[in-house]
Amino acid sequence: MQNNIIVRGIGGFYDVLTRDAKVIRCKLRGRLRLTMDRVLVGDWVEVTPLNDEEGVIEEILPRKNELVRPAIANVDQAVVVLACSDPKPDWLFLDRLLVLIEANGLEPVICFNKSDLIDEIEGYLDIIEIYRAAGYPVVITSAAAGEGIEELRTLLKDRVSTFAGPSGVGKSSLLNKIESGLELAVGAISAKLRRGKHTTRQVELIQLSFGGLVADTPGFSQLSLTGIKPQELQQYFPEFYEASFDCKFRGCMHVKEPDCAVTELVNSGKISKLRYQNYLTLLEEIEQMR
Ligand code: GDP
Ligand code: ZN
Repeated sequence: MQNNIIVRGIGGFYDVLTRDAKVIRCKLRGRLRLTMDRVLVGDWVEVTPLNDEEGVIEEILPRKNELVRPAIANVDQAVVVLACSDPKPDWLFLDRLLVLIEANGLEPVICFNKSDLIDEIEGYLDIIEIYRAAGYPVVITSAAAGEGIEELRTLLKDRVSTFAGPSGVGKSSLLNKIESGLELAVGAISAKLRRGKHTTRQVELIQLSFGGLVADTPGFSQLSLTGIKPQELQQYFPEFYEASFDCKFRGCMHVKEPDCAVTELVNSGKISKLRYQNYLTLLEEIEQMR
């Protein structure tokens, strides 16, 4: 990792993963304490080590992004997990998450889990292909059968990631599979923390043995598109955005405008009707909020 990163906060102390891959427990330099409630897990910090295990945080560096619920900073990517069954995929939900992820300055990855349910997944391969063609990294996994796990590890390696997606799709199962002995490791950490004060549990960044950090609590529980402007929405539909340069009108929203390259591609089947319909639904939602 390029920076020292706060991986957890506990009772006024912060565990910092340093550039040389050690975790040291730090407190804030006095003058920073005023800003204490603004310190987030994921924050990049400058530290002065006191010894092998302790240090002082001197400075909090500017953030590249900041998520709420759970509050976490500087996340590189969000892995949206869907299942082909139990629960069935909700494509509008997926598109909404993809928009939120990119609008927050993170890169999306789509993970299609429970591929061991063969009959179910086959019905979705065409739709999965639509997302691949639009440029999203897509990985098909089975936490149960151990499929696609190595590919997922490659995507997580050396990055800071959060998982997202509805409950029951297999996010925890995947994490346990990705990092064997994770449950043990997490248990060991909390046992150590329990010796300290009892505080409400915050999000933690878990160190992956092959390199990288992953949040232990799924992100993007807040699904409102507040703050996204109607004209901006198309940027988060990469396959529309490219085509939009051929629309007759500058600022074409691809709804009812004449000579719209996007609706032409929808009609000729080159842009998915499903994606277009979801775009219209989200666009209407954004317009109604204003
Ligand atoms: P989360 O809520 O997204 O964290 O999902 P969980 O990891 O708790 O999994 C929800 C349920 O799906 C559990 O009963 C898991 O055993 C099951 N599950 C998880 N991954 C798979 C998978 O790849 N295939 C199948 N068939 N079931 C899975
Ligand atoms: Zn257009």
